[in-house]
Amino acid sequence: MKIIKSIVEMREYASALKADGKSVGLVPTMGALHAGHLSLLARVRDFCDKSVMSVFVNPTQFGPAEDFAKYPRDLGRDCGLAESAGCDCVFAPSAEEMYPEGYGVGVSVGPIGDTLCGAARPGHFNGVATVVLKLFNIVSPQAAVFGAKDAQQVAVIKRVVADLNVPVRVITAPIVREADGLAMSSRNVYLTRPERERAANISKSLFEAKALFEGGEQSVERIKERVASIINGALMKTEYVEIVDPASLRPFDKVIDGAALIAVACRTLESKTRLIDNIVVDCLH
Ligand code: AMP
Repeated sequence: MKIIKSIVEMREYASALKADGKSVGLVPTMGALHAGHLSLLARVRDFCDKSVMSVFVNPTQFGPAEDFAKYPRDLGRDCGLAESAGCDCVFAPSAEEMYPEGYGVGVSVGPIGDTLCGAARPGHFNGVATVVLKLFNIVSPQAAVFGAKDAQQVAVIKRVVADLNVPVRVITAPIVREADGLAMSSRNVYLTRPERERAANISKSLFEAKALFEGGEQSVERIKERVASIINGALMKTEYVEIVDPASLRPFDKVIDGAALIAVACRTLESKTRLIDNIVVDCLH
């Protein structure tokens, strides 16, 4: 597996593959890899001949009070895992390589970046969209895979690709969970032991919401209340529980009458970790 740190070299590697008739798929990550990330590599292989995984903790998507400095970083470990999962190339640029002196232009994603996680993380999705577009321009992949765990990120990237006519196919991969249902996340390592045990309630609340919906409950308010009541407690508080259209992220008003994304974010009260999860429900299922 190739490890590349410079943009010039990354471009050369990608163009050589293309000249050889190979399609390239990109998996953008911030490293601290887990099985969720590795599932994206498996998915990319369904669509492309070669896989590039970027490992870059993107400073522009972190707010001033967020965990940029303490975000877990271990490139050696990440490369080992990526290689064992069949990755062809890890692209791991430095912050200076991606944002050199004088850098100033960025993508502004508009209202889709202001709801859900964007409400508590102003500018976050502009940072995400900017770095992803930069990665697309550096790697020129035919396809890129994103995890359904970050449902708003998927919706934002799909908007960017549609609105800016970016020739990349956006593929979504299902959420990979721990045995007790907790969505895998690089941030789970922050959790204290009691928080970790309690965190299983997040997915439990979503599975329950789905079961309620499938049992005939369509009231937005009642489903949201049930989700919040399962999550909230001495160790964890919801930041939001929302039921929205999966593409536009516009909230359902009173009843769920189509495919809906039930999305939650919560904060743990000991380690102050922010966790997100979601589930999609559909009237047809
Ligand atoms: P991150 O490194 O957290 O920015 O995530 C990189 C990519 O991995 C994003 O597309 C995430 O949605 C995806 N991802 C993270 N956790 C999971 C998970 N538990 N299951 C599936 N995809 C995930």
